[in-house]
Amino acid sequence: MDRNLLMVAGPTEIEEDVLSAGAKPMVYNRTSEFSKFYLGIIEKLQKVFRTENDVLILSCSGTGAMEAAVTNLLSEGDEVIVVSGGTFGRRWFDIASIFNVKCHLVSLPQGRTVTSELIKPLLSDKIKAVFLTANETSTGVLTDIEPVGDLVKGSNAILVVDAVSSLGADPIETDGWNCDVVISSSQKALALPPGLAFVSVSQKAWRLIDESSIPKFYFDLKEYCKNAERGQTPFTPAISLLNQLDMRLDKMLEIGMERLNFLQRKKSDYLLNGLVGLGLEVIGDAHSSGVLGVIFPIDVDAFDVVSRLRDEFFIEITPSPGEDKPRVARIGIFGKLELSDIDYFLVSLKKILS
Ligand code: PMP
Repeated sequence: MDRNLLMVAGPTEIEEDVLSAGAKPMVYNRTSEFSKFYLGIIEKLQKVFRTENDVLILSCSGTGAMEAAVTNLLSEGDEVIVVSGGTFGRRWFDIASIFNVKCHLVSLPQGRTVTSELIKPLLSDKIKAVFLTANETSTGVLTDIEPVGDLVKGSNAILVVDAVSSLGADPIETDGWNCDVVISSSQKALALPPGLAFVSVSQKAWRLIDESSIPKFYFDLKEYCKNAERGQTPFTPAISLLNQLDMRLDKMLEIGMERLNFLQRKKSDYLLNGLVGLGLEVIGDAHSSGVLGVIFPIDVDAFDVVSRLRDEFFIEITPSPGEDKPRVARIGIFGKLELSDIDYFLVSLKKILS
């Protein structure tokens, strides 16, 4: 299969040594050596999530972790608040609704981010959880989680955060911001192949899990937690992906999370300045460090730009989902993408637009 430069919102460009770690020979997972390896990964993940909560690893994409959060935390008829600024906020609503959870939807206009004032009037004693998206990947708009965390902490509800496109790019302070459940996955800012998802769970969230009556089997988080205590998984783990994760986490922690976030922000500011220099508008004031949503002029079809970037310059970006003739495209700058790649993209885009 031909391969183009990946500037989509995941999967991403991956470092060579991390790719090679996925080609290591298989080992048997029901051994004490594997348990030690697995416990080591969990400890490293806790540092990346900046939490002392349990962090569980699932073999699935990000949506699997979203479904696991809903089915483990809630029961039919429960009431929750869902904040949606686009496709992925809406996905919380879709999943919860399928399981007959009653959602109070806070629907944001494109580019807007939620404030605790929008949530406060809905946060009654009945509300079991508030669902947020840290970076709404369909627009690249970043949520200010901390004030919502402060608000939800003093209520009966828990705060559930989708950090699929944030963890590793923008800061996620799981404990510092009182996030009870944070989900993420491997193929975006963690710069790994798709196939692993992660769920962190606080004590307040475990109490809710104890009350949950929605049926689940493969994603029963209590089983993952029980097994993880001895470095094991309820079902066969994705061993090759875990080898890659282990190496990637070492590399991330060696750089340090703060510096990693700083470097990522530098890259996104560089791209932002370049896009503005081309006379383009970037969605939202609070833009993420991993994905930018760019609005093309009225006479430009984003599909056209995407096709020409692919066919003439071998670069992949993504038109925004859900529109017939979209003017918005998303540009991902995760992984090992360099400033020189961004330069190449900007020069190519300039040629197309002129
Ligand atoms: N949440 C967010 C914020 C995402 O960006 C994505 C993927 N684009 C998902 C959830 C769904 O993840 P996946 O495609 O890995 O299931």
